[in-house]
Amino acid sequence: MSLQVLLVEDDRELRATLNAAMQVEGYRVVAVASLAEAKAVLGQVGERSRFDLVLLDLGLPDGDGESLLGSLRAEQRAPIIVISARHTDAPKIRLLDAGADDYLVKPFSVGEMLARMRVALRHKGRMTSPAVTRYVHDGLEVDVEAHRVRLHGEAVHLTPTEFKLLARLVRQQGQVVTHRQLLVDVWGEEFTSHTHYLRLYMGQLRTKLETNPADPHRLLTEPGVGYALVEART
Ligand code: CA
Repeated sequence: MSLQVLLVEDDRELRATLNAAMQVEGYRVVAVASLAEAKAVLGQVGERSRFDLVLLDLGLPDGDGESLLGSLRAEQRAPIIVISARHTDAPKIRLLDAGADDYLVKPFSVGEMLARMRVALRHKGRMTSPAVTRYVHDGLEVDVEAHRVRLHGEAVHLTPTEFKLLARLVRQQGQVVTHRQLLVDVWGEEFTSHTHYLRLYMGQLRTKLETNPADPHRLLTEPGVGYALVEART
């Protein structure tokens, strides 16, 4: 299920660039160019289809994006990232106080924007949905909070990195977690190209947790995409 982003930006070229970059990352984007359009879109959005994130330019043709911050904050739980051409600190602090979650100053790179979006969404995830911290299937028991892994009743010792990787998969059990998501969440933003780490650590986890590591039944590979922790297929 892809996340829905509202992009409010009147600069046509920038809007197109950001829109395209977000779509490549798998976001669904609703892009508008003015306060009035943003209000119209927000007015149509029902309880069930809220935005997951809002990118809000401040300098809009029909007013200041800041005027939308308060109502956005009141109606949407989505993180709001403000886009501004302003450089001084005072408005930045005021905007953060007014409900913005983060702040991008033009010119910024698409990579920086996407990274800030991921951080904002992670924070939101922590606040609004209880994390999945347990996996119990077919003899394997993982309790992330207690930091405990058992296989058929026997404690399994994992290294800290192995445990972090497993915990990340537990959080989205049954779903494929992409290479990029795993690398960012376990190792950090600067490691997104280190897919060999994943092969290495997934191999180690399989050795410890699978009956036959060469034919895994819990820790599955989605070629070219990522990995998933599933209910063991017997
Ligand atoms: Ca503008």
